[in-house]
Amino acid sequence: MGVFGTKCIGRDACGACSVNCPINDCLKFHVDKRLAGIDREKCISCGRCAAACPSEAIKPWGWKVTEEELVQVILKDRAFYEKSGGGVTLSGGEPLLQANFIAGLLRKMRDEKIDSCVESTFSVKWEEAEKILPHTDRFISDIKAMDDKVHRKYTGASNALILENLKRLSGCDVPLTLRIPLIPGVNDGRENIEKTAEFILRDMGGKIEKFQILEFMHLGREKCQSLEREYPMEGLKANREKIHKRAEEIREYFEDKGIHCVLGNA
Ligand code: SF4
Ligand code: SF4
Repeated sequence: MGVFGTKCIGRDACGACSVNCPINDCLKFHVDKRLAGIDREKCISCGRCAAACPSEAIKPWGWKVTEEELVQVILKDRAFYEKSGGGVTLSGGEPLLQANFIAGLLRKMRDEKIDSCVESTFSVKWEEAEKILPHTDRFISDIKAMDDKVHRKYTGASNALILENLKRLSGCDVPLTLRIPLIPGVNDGRENIEKTAEFILRDMGGKIEKFQILEFMHLGREKCQSLEREYPMEGLKANREKIHKRAEEIREYFEDKGIHCVLGNA
């Protein structure tokens, strides 16, 4: 459940979340009676508070859905896909943590002739990736940092499994867009960029459709705050002009190496 306390109109004026919550003292309020947070230890994620809230001060970040329900949601936009030439991207979280579900969904989308893409970290066993390989039209993944220590520090996980899976993926016949979310002082240095290009050329045989540079923005801050978690990039100053200049330099470097490279969402 995400908490957006500034939208709360106050417990005295409303209080619908408290009335509908089945757990005692699960919702916390400021002295001015606006919502302060949720006791995450007690919360059972039933979603009743969010459903009752009239001002979207509590919103679920995820919910359970069946394959058939999801297919119906996707099919509603069929005309849009046909007109735009686009399709559906299954993203996360990590979709490959539910590989069986995703495989079924992708099969249905192929039956319906809707183009599909799976966006994954590939920080999963290869067997999970294999389950969806025959059913998706393309993949998107990231190379965040080549140095394992740096990768662990900023993502909480090793990059070893990811790099191994990317190597295997390059031997399969599914187009892949690889991205780097460019973070100043973390992964935009010369050594990391050179090692990334070397990995793509040497270990993946250059077999990617394109390399994409995503210029850093504080996009995760609101989500972290709503989940009452620390935002790990809080102290990082994002100078848009400098980041863009560095991104352009890196794009040119990759192009010179023979790797098709684009900025942002191009
Ligand atoms: S999700 Fe359910 S248990 Fe958790 S705070 Fe909301 S109503 Fe209470
Ligand atoms: S239901 Fe929403 S608006 Fe009402 S008190 Fe709870 S958080 Fe505030």
